[in-house]
Amino acid sequence: MRTHDLTTVRNLGILAHVDAGKTTVTERVLHLAGVTHKQGEVHDGTTVTDFDPQERDRGITIFAAAVGCTWAGHRLTLIDTPGHVDFTAEVERSLRVLDGAIAVFDAVAGVEPQSETVWRQADRHGVPRIAFVNKLDRAGADLDAAVASIRARLHPAPLVVQLPIGRESAFTGVVDLLRLDQVPDDVLAEARRRRRVLEEAVAELHPLALEEFCATGTVSAETLEKALRELTLSGDGLVVLCGAAYRDRGITELLDAVVAYLPSPADVPPVRPDRPADPAAPVAALVFKVVATATGRLTYLRVYSGTLRKGDQVSDAGRTERIARVLRVQADRYSEVDSAVAGDIVAVAGPKAARVGATLCAPGAEVLLEPPVTADPVVSVAVEAR
Ligand code: GDP
Repeated sequence: MRTHDLTTVRNLGILAHVDAGKTTVTERVLHLAGVTHKQGEVHDGTTVTDFDPQERDRGITIFAAAVGCTWAGHRLTLIDTPGHVDFTAEVERSLRVLDGAIAVFDAVAGVEPQSETVWRQADRHGVPRIAFVNKLDRAGADLDAAVASIRARLHPAPLVVQLPIGRESAFTGVVDLLRLDQVPDDVLAEARRRRRVLEEAVAELHPLALEEFCATGTVSAETLEKALRELTLSGDGLVVLCGAAYRDRGITELLDAVVAYLPSPADVPPVRPDRPADPAAPVAALVFKVVATATGRLTYLRVYSGTLRKGDQVSDAGRTERIARVLRVQADRYSEVDSAVAGDIVAVAGPKAARVGATLCAPGAEVLLEPPVTADPVVSVAVEAR
């Protein structure tokens, strides 16, 4: 994987109502994507994204944390977004630096009030999304009812791409309606019926799928995938997946969907016309989080254009700051790298005063990616930079 191949980068967030399973989904994603070999459980307080003891005590994710992993040759960075209603400002801040998101829903409760709040925030930031209906193993779980509540309250065109196998505690996994591979006999007829429903729904929304449907009476898996990707990017359709994160069901498929449907930094418009997502352009990076650690201040940023190298001098609204270290964040560890390029999300050590919302850019080629910030506290969490 070439580090500057933007098409293999996915910067994404997981958006959810408290308790829908965001922490569990994140945990399973990191586990499957090989970052962590210890499978932490939410209830014993060992999950890798919850750094802060207070956060563990309260059982909710308070502080956003960026976590990297790889899947199918793609570099994924998960930007954690707090699900608690008191922290909507932090959600907004995190949404600025995402290219796409997974919206997690509870299969029993469907759309909950706070899922709606976060959804509207993501709408405002134009974040392409896919949906994951979680907890299909719970008593009372109902994918169709959850999808109906998504349709009624959030999105007019949910496109369900899987069929659950078994119900509630007998839920064992999902059938991929695009491939229809190795479908158990007892659900084959239902899978074919749902595939047909999907083809018709996609044909209604996408000209290429419609053309194929009219000409052949069906839509191929390849066309469906291309159409679903475009509908995700435009926001005209919502890919819906399902599973039970707690039982590791549907997570592989969710990761495949992130790669297939969510955008890379190359797919989204440049942050400014004169700051393209190009490693050779003048550097411009947006600070979205600052944390005080035992070993000093860490500034999380998204590089939108150019290349940010260790040792560089950068300008923050005319003040010069030095990038002493560039760190990739892998769950609860940091690994030092020489540089970060357009599309990357990294933490840097060195800047002494850069605040959340600040733009770090090449001296002499200054831009502001956000309006000037007046006050924003440094959030203190105890994270060892190793
Ligand atoms: P968050 O608040 O959205 O981060 O949700 P958590 O991941 O902490 O999950 C909330 C609760 O739901 C925890 O007790 C989890 O163990 C439980 N949970 C998460 N995923 C599943 C699932 O797939 N099935 C079931 N039955 N419980 C789940």
